[in-house]
Parts: sequence; structure tokens; C-alpha cells
Amino acid sequence: MTGQQVQLGGWGMMAHSRAEVLQPDSVSAAQLAVSDAGRRRRTAIPRGSGFSYGDAALNGNSLVLDTRRLSRIIGLDGQGLVEVEAGVTIGDLCRFATRRGWWPPVVPGTGRPTLGGCVGANVHGKNAYIVGTFGEHVQELDLVLPDGSLLTCSEEREPDVFRAVIGGYGLLGVIVRMRMRLERQPSRLMVEEIAAPHLTSIMHILSGSLGPSDHAVAWIDACAQGEGRGRGIVQLARNLNGDSGGSDREVGRSGRRPFTRLRSALWPLLLILRTNQGVGALNSARYELAALNSGRTSIGPRERYQFFHDFIPDWRRAFRPGGVLQYQMFVPKECANEVFLACLEAAQEIKQAPILAVLKRHRTDPALLSYGVDGYSLSLDFPVTSTGLPSLRDALHRLTDEVVLPAGGRFYLAKDSILTPDQAGRSLGLDALGQFLAIKRRIDPGTLFQSDLYRRLFAPLALG
Ligand SMILES: Cc1cc2nc3c(=O)[nH]c(=O)nc-3n(C[C@H](O)[C@H](O)[C@H](O)COP(=O)(O)OP(=O)(O)OC[C@H]3O[C@@H](n4cnc5c(N)ncnc54)[C@H](O)[C@@H]3O)c2cc1C
Repeated sequence: MTGQQVQLGGWGMMAHSRAEVLQPDSVSAAQLAVSDAGRRRRTAIPRGSGFSYGDAALNGNSLVLDTRRLSRIIGLDGQGLVEVEAGVTIGDLCRFATRRGWWPPVVPGTGRPTLGGCVGANVHGKNAYIVGTFGEHVQELDLVLPDGSLLTCSEEREPDVFRAVIGGYGLLGVIVRMRMRLERQPSRLMVEEIAAPHLTSIMHILSGSLGPSDHAVAWIDACAQGEGRGRGIVQLARNLNGDSGGSDREVGRSGRRPFTRLRSALWPLLLILRTNQGVGALNSARYELAALNSGRTSIGPRERYQFFHDFIPDWRRAFRPGGVLQYQMFVPKECANEVFLACLEAAQEIKQAPILAVLKRHRTDPALLSYGVDGYSLSLDFPVTSTGLPSLRDALHRLTDEVVLPAGGRFYLAKDSILTPDQAGRSLGLDALGQFLAIKRRIDPGTLFQSDLYRRLFAPLALG
């Protein structure tokens, strides 16, 4: 099987490389593509929708296995156990499930990633502090190994491989099929928005001071200074019990959200975020408006709240050609406030305002290469320009070495494009990394599965 040579990029557009792309359309075609790659002595990496920000799904000068044509939903039983191929997108699964009164326990902020990509990065949602990460709801995986054979793994069968594949960034094989649990969930949520005047009050609300919520997330005004540094808007969402099954109108007749074409034309509005003044003005207006209506609740479809990033599809067009660099740190609750204030201050010192800053609450998870902490994450999306990149990179490296890692912080490789091998080792833990590399040597002795991310962070640690 041979494919086309294509220039691929990470979603954030900082990382690029050229590769031969194969698109198997069945499990047996995926097995053939992998065994063929081995015979041709090529390296390969599975790719879903390419929504990781950096280089996790790139494999320069070699093979990329695009799994999006493995897109069958095979079955759903009465207990909510769904069997799917790995190229189904999370949005398509949600649309299928919501009409039947079900919903995946964990979804990321966009519906476009594939389920294989959600397992590969072990994604989290706005309810991570309650339900953990995606992999905790997967029951069984079928993995194509380097010789093209299939390995079924679960907590009972090959549990060490199972825990390493979840969050294993495609480095152990290609997931082609999985069984995962859905939850009975109403199709609509009640969302309360609270304006909070500083970071401490945001963390207090996220920790549950206003009572339990099913989802919680905070938008931070990253430009606010002094007493108001870290002020923002907390959204607490609760399931609207008594409501079941989404209507076709809510999810769109064609299975897409309504008005997609209209919303797609909105991205030029975001050009205002290309200057620090624009970001500052928009943030202030957003915060002041929320402060006037603080405590207001609204009811809406679950999908609209969950897939917030899809409101303006392909919004990254406003930041071409440099793209967006996301820096997301996960910090234990004891030091999160202090670390996040230091990060916001550092971003203000280099005068590069993040266009988006989001705070979430988390818990630890059982994946081998876990990024989870009993604490909080703050993600900062910086627009990239060729003149600003060197100082941004320097500042983030300093923060990583001097503030985040010493506080026990961790990083999420799906969002990363700048960590060094040493920083990745300290984030993941050398013990966990050693166990992961030992499993890789056992099931992939010829190192067939490689990516640009692997060569940037893992290979130097494997040799060291
Ligand atoms: C706008 C936006 C919002 C986001 N919000 C969130 C969020 O709220 N929470 C969160 O956790 N993440 C979030 N992400 C990150 C995103 O969910 C992850 O990067 C996810 O992995 C993307 O899935 P994908 O199908 O695009 O995978 P890709 O980016 O194509 O691949 C991701 C990794 O998974 C591996 N992989 C893909 N398919 C397979 C397979 N079949 N078998 C084995 N490995 C595979 C790849 O090799 C790669 O290492 C967001 C990203 C964007 C762009």
C-alpha cells in the first residue's frame, strides 16, 4: 500500500512535516498497512483528526496512518456499552448517543477529534474533577502491533499494555476498535455564570464553595493586573434532570450543529485579538458585562456548552501564518494559585497577551504517562509571531524550569510544542517513562511506531 506525500501540521500550526499518508478503510487494511511499513523498514504513526496542537501526530519523511475512514459505530447495548471504530469523531458519537439518551462521560472542548486520538492523548473535559480522563471509561481496545497482528487489551487482558496505550500517543500501535461506557445524561444543561474578581475567588468557586456542579470551567482575563490579576468568569453547569434524549433540531438535521456555515464566516472578528490592546479591550468588556449579570443562569443543549471551541469553526485562521502556541500546566492544588499568578505575571512582562486563558479542576488518573494532578490546570493560548516567538519560548522555558516543575506541575503532550526532553522527563516522571519505554521495547522492538514528538522527547530519554 502506498500513499500520497502530504505536508501536515499540528493544529496550533507551529509544527510541520512532510509524510506519506495512508488511509486504511478497514481493520484488515490497517493491519496490512502496518505490516507493510515494517517490511519496507519505514516508521509510522497513527493520526486522527490532527487536533493535537504540536507534533504528536506528525512523522516527518515517513508514514502517517490516517484513521478517519475507520468510522463505524458498531453497536450500543442497553447498559450504554458502545463498540466503535477508532476513526469515529467524538462529535459523531455524541450525536448518535444523545438521540438515545446517552452521552460519553468525557469529551474535550471540540467535537472534531477522533476516539483513537482521545485515547492516544487521554483527553479530559470540564468534569475531569469528577469523572477523570477519557481512558477511565474505555473497557477494551484492539491494537494493531508492528507485525500487523491484533492485540485485544483491557484491565483484565494485558493490563500493563492497556494502561500504557491510554495516553501513549500512538507509540505502541494503532487502535482500530474499542468498547467504552456511555452515561445516561439529559441532553440539556443549566449553566450559571459568576464573575469572580481575582484568582483566589475563582479557585474557591471551582473547589465547590457554591455547591456541587457536574461541570466547571473558568475563563480568565489574562490582561488584568494588580488586585484583579486572574479575575474571570466561572461557568458551573448542572445536568437538567427530567430531560432526556436530544431532538434532531438541537443537533441539526444533517448531524451538524445548526448555522455552521454562518458561524464559519465569523473568524475575521477574531482579528482584533492579534494585538495586545485588542485582547485587553475585549477581555475588559467581557468581564464587565459578566459582572453586571453575575449569577445569571441559562439552559441550553449539552453540545453547545461542551464543544465551546466549535462555535467559530477553524478560528485559528485569524492567527495565520504563525498559529497558536498553547501552554497548559497542571499543578497540585496546594501551589496552583501561586504558580498561576506567576505565569500570568510573566505573560504580562513579555507583553504577549494570551488570546484565551482557561482554568479547570482535575484529579489524578491511572494512565501510565499521566498528566493528571489533584489540582488545577491553566491553559494559555499565545498567538505566534516570528518576532515574538524567541522571547515567548524563553519565558515559557524559564517558567517551566523555575516555577511549574519545582511545584510538582505537569504538562499535557497533546498541547505541547516546546518542552525539552529533560522537562518532559521531570513532568512525566522518570519511573513511569522507564516503564513505558520497556513496554515499547517489548511490543515494538524495531521502533516502528515513531512520531516527531517521539524523536523530540522520548528518543533522547530512551538513549540517555
Ligand atoms: C480547539 C481545541 C480544543 C481542545 N480541547 C481539549 C480539551 O478540552 N481537553 C483535552 O484533553 N484536549 C483538548 N484538545 C486536544 C485534543 O483533544 C487532543 O489533541 C486529541 O488527541 C485530538 O484527537 P485527534 O483525533 O485529532 O488526534 P491526533 O491529534 O491526530 O493525534 C493525537 C495523538 O493520538 C494518537 N492517535 C490518534 N489516533 C490513534 C489511533 N487510532 N491509535 C493510536 N493512537 C492514535 C496520535 O498518534 C497522536 O499521538 C483540544 C484541541 C483543540 C485544537
